[in-house]
Amino acid sequence: MRMPVLFVGHGNPMNAIERNEFHLGWAAIAKRVPRPRAILCVSAHWETRGAHATAAAAPDTIHDFYGFPQALFDVRYPAPGDPALAARVAALVTSERVGLDPGRGLDHGAWSVLIAMYPAADVPVVQLSMDTRLPGTHHYALARQLEPLRDEGVLVLGSGNIVHNLRLFNFRDPAPLDWALSADAELRGHIAAGRHEELAGYPARPESRLPVPTPEHYLPLLYAIALQQAGETAEFFNVRVPGSISMTSLLIGGPGKA
Ligand code: ZN
Repeated sequence: MRMPVLFVGHGNPMNAIERNEFHLGWAAIAKRVPRPRAILCVSAHWETRGAHATAAAAPDTIHDFYGFPQALFDVRYPAPGDPALAARVAALVTSERVGLDPGRGLDHGAWSVLIAMYPAADVPVVQLSMDTRLPGTHHYALARQLEPLRDEGVLVLGSGNIVHNLRLFNFRDPAPLDWALSADAELRGHIAAGRHEELAGYPARPESRLPVPTPEHYLPLLYAIALQQAGETAEFFNVRVPGSISMTSLLIGGPGKA
């Protein structure tokens, strides 16, 4: 059976513990996809030189944020790692060497979403880092090589935000900003039409200056769409734009709505 592919907009780390619409949207989508043997997560919050995969048998929970309530720092997500999957990822990527990192834990881009999707933390998780100095086309090409994982029971999960401008985020008034809404709509249009070249080139284009001022939250999208097969559609969920951040998420190759 071929596993679907997911991209989720993760947004505020508090979504991990608040039972809000985003958290509930992640929980609902997990119930609709076949239970994976393991998860390969590409998160905005692990940037490295070259690509690396987590190879710990029991990865720690990394609290890579500041100024949040203690309850968020108390969260542990004790999912097992999967060193064999990390090695498989390194073997599949032939265009460059993927390093194995036995010391790295799970960052909040991964666990804030997975705690909603798989609260029992009983699905092994491996993370793949991104070298965000490299262009979108590089990430797209790298991700294409991971395609066999879909037939091996692995759920590939990109976690970022397709529109993400924290500098322009107004915490007192998270009403959608016009330019963020229109960028979100434009990107959804590209995704729905399967315009992968447009999407891989987007961070390099002038119109991405406000929606994608830095690439790390956008690039995980490319790891999802790169695995889209001919005829597979993208189903959107959590389509909301609080302020300057898009929570738009998508399921590719899913079972279809009942
Ligand atoms: Zn983030």
